[in-house]
Amino acid sequence: MSTPYSGKMELHIPEPLLTTLQEIGNIAGENAYLVGGSVRDLLLERENLDIDIVVVGDGIQLAKEMHRVWKGKIQVHHQFGTASVTPENPDKPKVDFVTARCETYNKSGTLPKVVPGSITDDLHRRDFTINALAMQIDTSNFGTIIDKVSGIGDLRSRTIQVLHDKSYTDDPTRIFRAIRYACRYSFNIAESDCNLINDAIPYLSDISGERIRNEIDRVLLEPNAPKILNELAKFGILSVISPHWKIPPSFPEDFQLAQKAISWSSQSLENDSICSNMILWMTLFGRHEKQGIPTYIIEYLCFRLVLEHKLVKFFGDSKHRPSTFSSKELTKIQITNVGIDLSENVLLEHHNGKWCIIDYEKKKTIVYEEGIMYKIRSPFTTLQCLYSVLDSLNATITSSEIYRILKPYPLEALVLSISDPNISKIQYDNINEFLLTLRFIQPIISGNDLIEWGEKPGKNFESILKTIFSEQLDGNIRSKSEAYSYFKQKTDIG
Ligand code: ATP
Ligand code: MG
Repeated sequence: MSTPYSGKMELHIPEPLLTTLQEIGNIAGENAYLVGGSVRDLLLERENLDIDIVVVGDGIQLAKEMHRVWKGKIQVHHQFGTASVTPENPDKPKVDFVTARCETYNKSGTLPKVVPGSITDDLHRRDFTINALAMQIDTSNFGTIIDKVSGIGDLRSRTIQVLHDKSYTDDPTRIFRAIRYACRYSFNIAESDCNLINDAIPYLSDISGERIRNEIDRVLLEPNAPKILNELAKFGILSVISPHWKIPPSFPEDFQLAQKAISWSSQSLENDSICSNMILWMTLFGRHEKQGIPTYIIEYLCFRLVLEHKLVKFFGDSKHRPSTFSSKELTKIQITNVGIDLSENVLLEHHNGKWCIIDYEKKKTIVYEEGIMYKIRSPFTTLQCLYSVLDSLNATITSSEIYRILKPYPLEALVLSISDPNISKIQYDNINEFLLTLRFIQPIISGNDLIEWGEKPGKNFESILKTIFSEQLDGNIRSKSEAYSYFKQKTDIG
């Protein structure tokens, strides 16, 4: 049953959203609805730049029709029955079109079986009552809210609750979503939902790393991320992902710092592609190993959550695969048999198609696949390493030393450190000099120049180039001829 919207909350639809919706409604009639978070935020009078339209029938077809009217860009995802249109007029919002669907879950944590459905089906597949609202946009019913599950009531009573008892086990990512919305709007999670969440938490270990990471990415984009992460930790959600994952006590301050670093870099380093998401994750892992989480756990999390990392081979070869290893089953004994020393406190987990071996006593994390053992390397651990070398940035340091020390670090770590009010003025000046000047300096001399000067490529080559570049950074060599004189002087002495 659809009920015309009435009550204390008034529905204000600002321009240009109003015209956009009317234009869609004029073409699609009763088959298209504004839906989900867009309706929720209209009712709460909060800005929401996501415009989601559900289409009973063919969402892609309607998107193509609207694209003909609005011009601009269209992106079609046939496998999901969705399309996005970005109108040519920059004042008009981007609109996502989705085909109404009915979803059934066979196994917890896996993706549902999807078939086309009615608007009612589509509302019933949604996560929370407050997100299961639709608004009619056809000319005669424009503005009428369809509320099948008391979503408006829950908006009024500021309650987050799911539509049925199996919702969190069907899709455990909804646990993150519930806590995120509760903190964002200062709503309460219904008591029955708190119980359902507690029952569903173990199912989180079944879902893919990417899906968990996506949810935490979204948490980190919220202005009150520290509060949300605290709530997630209180529910025991982070410790299901790793028992050693804790939020550093300084995270609320560090998060402010990260915001500052992101805005500083967008102004001062506009030509670099700084990954703000990496800045936020580094902050979440902590500046110091003592207060944050240990490096080997960060490496494990990067592997588990499919955050940027590399696997560096350190043992074994697929051609000489030890016969004791099987890809399906792996035991601690098999690993120790090939000479890898493990302590008593070891966990073996199968993730992302590989085995991950975490030795809590020896503080190491190894990945195994097809007879090969790998170490995990991740740029997310580098913030802690950077802080451990900051002391060497003292008043007497030379530019070439600054360059040598800071060059290995990702820009994101450097940007974070320079926004830290706890670093000294000298450290600040040195990092600033590296970020704004030193790192752009190109060597005057190349390998070809050395060959021209009679040097044979070999062991010395690299070190001569490095020395000349250092002298250049320190201002002692300013031209090719000065470099040549320096080279002659050194080699004549040598
Ligand atoms: P936000 O303001 O955070 O973007 P939103 O409500 O727009 O909130 P989206 O993640 O953009 O959330 O999803 C759009 C809509 O899709 C939601 O309002 C909800 O109805 C539905 N939805 C999203 N994720 C899920 C899920 N895991 N299970 C069920 N429904 C979902
Ligand atoms: Mg959204």
